[in-house]
Amino acid sequence: MKKEAFVTKEQIEEIVKTYPTPFHIYDEKGIKENVKALKEAFAWNKGYKEFFAVKATPNPYLIQILREYGCGCDCSSLTELMLSKAMGVTGEDIMFSSNDTPAHEFAYAAKLGAIINLDDITHIDYLEKTIGYIPKTISCRFNPGGYFSVANSIMDNPGDAKYGFTAEQIMEGFRILKSKGAENFGIHAFLASNTVSNEYYPELARQLFELAVKLKNETGAKITFINLSGGIGIPYKPEDVPNDIRIIGEGVRKAYESILVPAGMGDVAIYTELGRYMMGPFGHLITQAIHEKHTHKEYIGVDACAVNLMRPAIYGAYHHITVLGKENEPCEYKYDVTGSLCENNDKFAIDRMLPKVEIGDYLAIHDTGAHGFAMGYNYNGKLKSAELLLKEDGSVQLIRRAETSKDYFATFDCLDIYKNLDLEV
Ligand SMILES: *Cc1c(COP(=O)(O)O)cnc(C)c1O
Repeated sequence: MKKEAFVTKEQIEEIVKTYPTPFHIYDEKGIKENVKALKEAFAWNKGYKEFFAVKATPNPYLIQILREYGCGCDCSSLTELMLSKAMGVTGEDIMFSSNDTPAHEFAYAAKLGAIINLDDITHIDYLEKTIGYIPKTISCRFNPGGYFSVANSIMDNPGDAKYGFTAEQIMEGFRILKSKGAENFGIHAFLASNTVSNEYYPELARQLFELAVKLKNETGAKITFINLSGGIGIPYKPEDVPNDIRIIGEGVRKAYESILVPAGMGDVAIYTELGRYMMGPFGHLITQAIHEKHTHKEYIGVDACAVNLMRPAIYGAYHHITVLGKENEPCEYKYDVTGSLCENNDKFAIDRMLPKVEIGDYLAIHDTGAHGFAMGYNYNGKLKSAELLLKEDGSVQLIRRAETSKDYFATFDCLDIYKNLDLEV
């Protein structure tokens, strides 16, 4: 599939007059069309709900777009809970799927009335000691161990993942929770990440539905929802075949009809906690070429670096690059596209074939809408960029300003050194 940027060189030239590069820009139209298609794919399930994985793109203006389509928030930390609450998302519109959870985070989640998804059997006691009761609605995260495969091909390795209860533990956990007053039960599992396959969700659903029937029969627990969590991937590479959400929704429906319905569980709600799939393709990191260097290789130095997008540096992840205005030129030049960190892995692309890049060209780095800005950090004292929203009407809204040196030094404000800093630079 040819990967095309959702902005043009002319648009960016206009935008940089107000907001200098680098910045992340998000495509409102794309986000809306995608969430609509997701909802349609699961419309067969009466209780269906997507809880957007806030950690993927913790920006309230983007999450608000999804809110308009009935999405809730999947939170994993105190500040994500705080952000959701500030947006007016509370109660069972929040799924709190965290692990290794500190007591104060459980306490705040309970105070907001969030659905708590326990990561371990020992967290039953820990939660009860922390908040003084077991909530009426509660969920447990399942990890079957081993490898997760579809048609003999391995997708991921849950046996090596820190998350979740074993099958025996979840059985025991449901009994304990029931004896402590829980009434509505959920099951959650996240067994493979960034799957570019229409088979992942249906296979996961089959496994969880079978477990649900067993849990119901053996513990008498009333299972009200099954949370398929995240893991639906996106085509980062031009040769990747994109998922078809209708086929995925239909595959889950077939599993539901063949396993849950005959077990008298045709009222179970399906939940999802997608992050990457909801936002990933609808963000670009826009950066300008500021240097070229000809040594043992050909380098293009840009004004963004790994603090703006960490995935290539830590996972060697591929992010497609479009040189804006040169979309139709042949890719005849081989470059490493680098940032300025004193780390040799600060490269957005290695040996990438691109059109001839000239200083001043704008590059759109694709698929930064999820796990992009959010993974940012401040190494080398670099500052995080702004986030912009390209609205459906073509206008641009600032949805997070860029960090300033004042932000960077803010945690020194209780110390003497603070008054010696040139914070206006
Ligand atoms: C990260 C995460 C998600 C979202 O995963 P994606 O791959 O972005 O869809 C959902 N649920 C939990 C518990 C997570 O940790």
